[in-house]
This record gives sequence, C-alpha cells and structure tokens, in this order.
Amino acid sequence: MTLMEKTPPFPPTLEESVPQELFKSEVRAWAERIGVQPQHIAIRPMARKWGSCSSAGRLTFDRDLLRQPAAFRAEVVVHELLHLKYPQHGKAFAALVRSYLAKYESIT
Ligand SMILES: [Zn+2]
Repeated sequence: MTLMEKTPPFPPTLEESVPQELFKSEVRAWAERIGVQPQHIAIRPMARKWGSCSSAGRLTFDRDLLRQPAAFRAEVVVHELLHLKYPQHGKAFAALVRSYLAKYESIT
C-alpha cells in the first residue's frame, strides 16, 4: 500500500486551505498519540506524493494537502508519522494506520 502517492481519483478539495499552523498542530497532536517526535515538519509543493518521511525524522507534506478533507489529511499524517516507528509498508503497517484512524475517528 502506497497511499501517499498521488493517484487519481483525488478526493474533492475544500474551498479554502486549512492554515499551515493548524495543519502542523494536527500533525503534532497525532505525533503525541502515536508516541513519536518528528524532528521537523515542512509543507511545500510536491509533485507526486502527499507526504514523505526521511530516515532522520523530517516530515514533508504536500501543500495541496491543506485543501483536502480532514479525514484524508489524518490518513496521510498517520501514515507518515508511523514511518518514524515502522519504515516498511506491508499488511501490518496498513492495519496499524487503520487502527489509529478508527480509534480516534470520533474526536478528529
Ligand atoms: Zn509510506
């Protein structure tokens, strides 16, 4: 599963972007729940990916993500943050992403 790659169909975009600071606070809230500490959170235009995670713990998110619905933003954020613990994709990784999203569905 490589959900971070931008492949159509894309979810419908929001009319207005979420402010960068709000998005970063979403990332920090998820980092706390997951128990990871990203070294740096960057937002910039990315051509082919919604997000990426370096081995040094630097997270980068595509600027277009600010115009995606909250549920989709959460999916991308949880995916990238979990890479700080688990670098590899696989069935276990996908299940973990789903379980975090389900667990906090009611409060995000
Ligand atoms: Zn990934």
